[in-house]
Amino acid sequence: MSAIGDPRGGRVTLIGGGPGADDLLTLRAVRALGSADVVLYDRLAPHALLHEFAPRAEHIDVGKTPGHHALPQSGIEALMVEKALGGAHVVRLKGGDPYVLGRGGEEVLACHRAGLPVEVVPGVTSAIAAPSAAGIPLTHRGVSTMFTVVSGHAPLDDDTLRHLAGLGALGGTIVILMGVANLPQITAGLARHGLAADLPVAVVERGFQPGQRTTVSQLGGIVVAAHRAGAESPAVIVVGEVVRLAHDGDLSAQGLMDRAARLTAMDA
Ligand code: SAH
Repeated sequence: MSAIGDPRGGRVTLIGGGPGADDLLTLRAVRALGSADVVLYDRLAPHALLHEFAPRAEHIDVGKTPGHHALPQSGIEALMVEKALGGAHVVRLKGGDPYVLGRGGEEVLACHRAGLPVEVVPGVTSAIAAPSAAGIPLTHRGVSTMFTVVSGHAPLDDDTLRHLAGLGALGGTIVILMGVANLPQITAGLARHGLAADLPVAVVERGFQPGQRTTVSQLGGIVVAAHRAGAESPAVIVVGEVVRLAHDGDLSAQGLMDRAARLTAMDA
């Protein structure tokens, strides 16, 4: 692996580790881990095999769990910069993709401010991978030609809800990360702005991880269904007709497929 910047100096590699399964790390990520002196990893990043992938590195859990960070963001950035300025190759291992609701941009800026060379290795984002693990394609010819990824970390304001509902009404798929706690506020808001109560919704917990589970209902029923199932973070919420495609043999999925096939045959 070629070194970046001054080979005698420290550097940072910011890695997107994917949704949690070790074999969804990219080859580039594994190679960077192999030359790491220090690895700072998040709870949602794949870290079970760090002893194998980064055998000579110091492994530091900067563990992000919802509402509890082992280290605050500023502390993570300070530690990363301090270790790299000391001459280490620091790998910052994050879940999903660093640039999708992952504060990767802030960490890159912290490196720039410190004059450190930094490389970003993209990862498989949970926004796409968790639905995929549940068999849900975010786009499907004739059903949905767009998707929007939104953070549900804070309650969504009315303007955002109105625009999202508009995209949903156009057939766009809505993908919500960090949205379990605010699911009631979000679904009520989308319904208030005109999305149909029978629009399918899926909550995919722990995609590509042990205990993966999908709860499927409709916009009007998902809050009760998710509550009954005890759905919890980390989960990706998918709102849109594409959710029907996840049900093998389900009649509504078949109807949707038939309609999509007719529509795409018409414009072929
Ligand atoms: N940068 C990350 C997202 C960080 S925000 C990415 O690209 O995936 C953290 C949120 O991601 C969680 O609250 C959850 O909504 C989602 N998430 C991450 N890993 C997940 C997984 N394996 N299954 C379901 N959701 C996941």
